[in-house]
Amino acid sequence: MTCKYHPSNKVVGQCSKCGADYCELCDFEVISGKEHTHLCLDCSRSFAVSKIVWSVICTIGGFIFGATVVKELSWSLACAYLFWGIYWGLAWSGWSSPSWQNLVDGTKYYGVWGLPLIVILLFVQLTVSAYIGCLGFGIVQTVRLVKTIKLIDLERNKAKDV
Ligand SMILES: [Zn+2]
Ligand SMILES: [Zn+2]
Repeated sequence: MTCKYHPSNKVVGQCSKCGADYCELCDFEVISGKEHTHLCLDCSRSFAVSKIVWSVICTIGGFIFGATVVKELSWSLACAYLFWGIYWGLAWSGWSSPSWQNLVDGTKYYGVWGLPLIVILLFVQLTVSAYIGCLGFGIVQTVRLVKTIKLIDLERNKAKDV
């Protein structure tokens, strides 16, 4: 097989999602949780789009949460921003990182204190995520993803014209 968009280029690897061959121009490295994987143009575009879609879903969820619980517009907007920030913050701190599995295993040793410990650490992670996400990281990530999507579209259009 050859690269879908650049058949004449040398293949440098396979997409870890769909298995398609890609060339140097179409090689995208993404971080999912704490894992680095390489994706082809098509898969990295849908990866970037899905992250943005999920952040929007979290924002809407936050707004609905604020509107139902506090029933005030300014608080609903604040909740929307908070949930949006938590989503990006969690992406940064690696929600699916192995340390959480270690922690769950650890409850076997901590016994009665396992559950409160998890709740406290969960709370700490949520708070840290909210700070990181709301204080800039969310915006940085969104801008980066939008740039990536634009770059991919540019590359795909270029390849179509040839
Ligand atoms: Zn792919
Ligand atoms: Zn290519």
